Amino acid sequence: MGNRILPDGSVLEDPVWQQVRKRAIASKDPVCALCGNPIDMEAPPHTPMACEVDHIIPVSRGGAPYDIDNLQLTHSRCNRQKSNRLREDYDDSDPNANLCPLSNNW
Ligand SMILES: [Zn+2]
Repeated sequence: MGNRILPDGSVLEDPVWQQVRKRAIASKDPVCALCGNPIDMEAPPHTPMACEVDHIIPVSRGGAPYDIDNLQLTHSRCNRQKSNRLREDYDDSDPNANLCPLSNNW
């Protein structure tokens, strides 16, 4: 399912995912599903405006990992904002954890 993160933090590429990802890019319009703007398919990977293939229903919440209908194209930037938001929405651990002030007074 997607890339596996090894204990040392490196990412193990999943060959099936690589295939599905390529197919999604080839079959979908190069438009960001999150902000609606065109995606520059020439943008270097991992830059803010680069193309990312995103799961509409996250795999962690029961979405099909390799179903093209569950995939959308997004900017790398927009996808990151979305996952940050999801993490806030669904992180129901200690509600005060994020209120800890970032102090500069040492
Ligand atoms: Zn976007």
